[in-house]
Amino acid sequence: MRKAVLRYLGCPGCRSELAVEEKRKWKGDIRSGTLVCRNCGLEYPVTAGRPVLLWENAQREWTSPISEAMGIEEYRTIDQSMKELFSFGEKRAIELVRERDHVNTEVFESLKSIPRSVVGKMKYRESGKWMKTGNRRERLLSFPWKDGDKTDSFNIFMQRIASTKTDSILDIASGGGFAVSHQAFVNTKVKQILAVERDLKSLGNIQYRFKYIGSESRSEAVGGDVRKLPVRTEVIDTAMMLAALPEISGVTLMIREVFRVLKEGGAFVLLISEEPMVTELRVDGEFGRFAAEADLYTGYKKFESDSELQGFSVESSLRFEDKRGRMRRLISLKK
Ligand SMILES: [Zn+2]
Repeated sequence: MRKAVLRYLGCPGCRSELAVEEKRKWKGDIRSGTLVCRNCGLEYPVTAGRPVLLWENAQREWTSPISEAMGIEEYRTIDQSMKELFSFGEKRAIELVRERDHVNTEVFESLKSIPRSVVGKMKYRESGKWMKTGNRRERLLSFPWKDGDKTDSFNIFMQRIASTKTDSILDIASGGGFAVSHQAFVNTKVKQILAVERDLKSLGNIQYRFKYIGSESRSEAVGGDVRKLPVRTEVIDTAMMLAALPEISGVTLMIREVFRVLKEGGAFVLLISEEPMVTELRVDGEFGRFAAEADLYTGYKKFESDSELQGFSVESSLRFEDKRGRMRRLISLKK
């Protein structure tokens, strides 16, 4: 990580600024060290060049948000977690969500050390070796994506973000970094890009993409939880998010956090599916009450009204149909 990014990063606990204690540096890049909150004193690691600002209980690889909401720690696919949900029934599932919330409020330790196996994966992916295996290079490293297709929703999404006032962009739940690296590629004006992702090995992929397109000096992959963003208050011009809403348990917490970190007049631009992953999780679905309790994505209408409740105004909401006939929405929110 570059020191300049400290202007934007904040303690996920108290949102205050952080000081860095460097251990190892390479070409101006801090490879390892500790970030210390100037206010509350909590410490966070810089590992394999990446700042990791997480709670002890938030570090994990991707799993179904449905299981996560019920406090199940083991990995689940969406299908597995739905089966489990059906077997519990809605009443029991809601009880589990409440128990999990109770446990979570008691945990306030920062994650101080990262397992060696995870650090290994971060380094391997950052080296580009993972990306170059199999046909990944073709699928994941073509810039720009679908060049020149002006009707493609992804391209319109990219242009929409690039046309906002963009000194600083924050990508929410970056995954492997597909969208954020494309934004870094098309947006030559933006001064700082932050990509926040909780799955730490993915940080290596994201940073490798930035390096690949030559955007490394102004782009940083940061380990963090979208429900407790590791970002200071009112420092971001534009937030962006591609498709990740259905993968989050804590959607309204995320909206509140994005609202907090945006400057007045800042934009939050999303491209998302109109419906939740499964119809049972719709507001009017069989498990609608559970979905609300678990703070899952229950469809774009609820998302828009929740955003308005947090203070955003919906600037535009456009509908697109993808090749498989699924509906997507390009939503622009303004603070
Ligand atoms: Zn703090």
